[in-house]
Amino acid sequence: MSQIRTLEALEGYLDLTADEKAWREDSSTVPLAITEHYMSLIDKEDSSDPLRRQVVPSSVENHSAVWEDMDPLAEEAHSVNHRLVHRYRNRVAFLVTDICPMYCRHCFRRRFTGTMQGPASLREIEESAGYVASHCEVKEILLTGGDVLTLSDSSLSNLISIFRKARPDLIIRLCTRYPVSDPKRIDNELIRVLKSFDSAPIYVMTQFNHPRELCDESKIAISRFLSAGFSVFNQSVLLRNVNDDPEVLAKLFEGLLAVGVKPYYLFQGDLVSGTSDFRVPLEKGIEIFRQLSELVSGLALPVYAIDLPNGGGKVTIGTGDLSKDPSGEFWQIRTPDGKCVKYPAI
Ligand code: SF4
Repeated sequence: MSQIRTLEALEGYLDLTADEKAWREDSSTVPLAITEHYMSLIDKEDSSDPLRRQVVPSSVENHSAVWEDMDPLAEEAHSVNHRLVHRYRNRVAFLVTDICPMYCRHCFRRRFTGTMQGPASLREIEESAGYVASHCEVKEILLTGGDVLTLSDSSLSNLISIFRKARPDLIIRLCTRYPVSDPKRIDNELIRVLKSFDSAPIYVMTQFNHPRELCDESKIAISRFLSAGFSVFNQSVLLRNVNDDPEVLAKLFEGLLAVGVKPYYLFQGDLVSGTSDFRVPLEKGIEIFRQLSELVSGLALPVYAIDLPNGGGKVTIGTGDLSKDPSGEFWQIRTPDGKCVKYPAI
């Protein structure tokens, strides 16, 4: 797989705008990496192409809004160790690696993603497996990062076998954007490795954000998972000037459903540092979702949800208790455990 990793290399493909040229990598941004596959999908003539926006950095990322944070979901506060996050009673997230083949400019885990720490060590894997072995309330593990499939097949196999040995019953969610970024990674050998761990289901969780990402190669990758018996779910992020349009989302979700992928979540963008340019105001998001629900079937409709700031947890919009505060500057959202969390209204 070849990647474009510098602005200089990127200029060989695209006429960069002044904002794109002015981007600087710093501790609050994710690195620049774009796969050749994804570059082939970008409209080179359109500087506001929705695919380009997701992967080509811009200097707007170098500025953070006051309510943004490097760790808006408070994962560090809920970490068992450097790699294992236990935020919800019945599931944990294991940060397999911080590396991705392509870095999304909206990435919510930028406190960790692309920090060049590499895959978890054997000690971190074994310690985390020991934790899930002694916590029977944990029913699912999210293998996430970073992108899990940057691991070689043998490293992935070793990792899963350690968790499976500790808890053969543990449901695995394999979180990967490879079907979008480099679909050829989903080959027969990977499928063979995953199929060998059949004591409990493995669910594939991916992230398509725009219908043009669902190209022929991506459809082949998805069909490989499905033919092998793995269910595939999609978690999209609602992104300004990418997919903040009910017609675009309808095309995406109907397209996914047509190839056997269940649209699972549509996430409001997290309040992570440097991503305000992508954030859709909540009021607009609610209206987009309302219109979307009139366009697609219940099966094609994901759940619209916010991960609330300061680790407030995941709340489904539509069923949540939601009101504006008297100043009009914040929404007040009631969490399932009864707390009231503020969310900026812009
Ligand atoms: S693939 Fe996931 S972890 Fe990697 S940059 Fe994109 S959103 Fe972040």
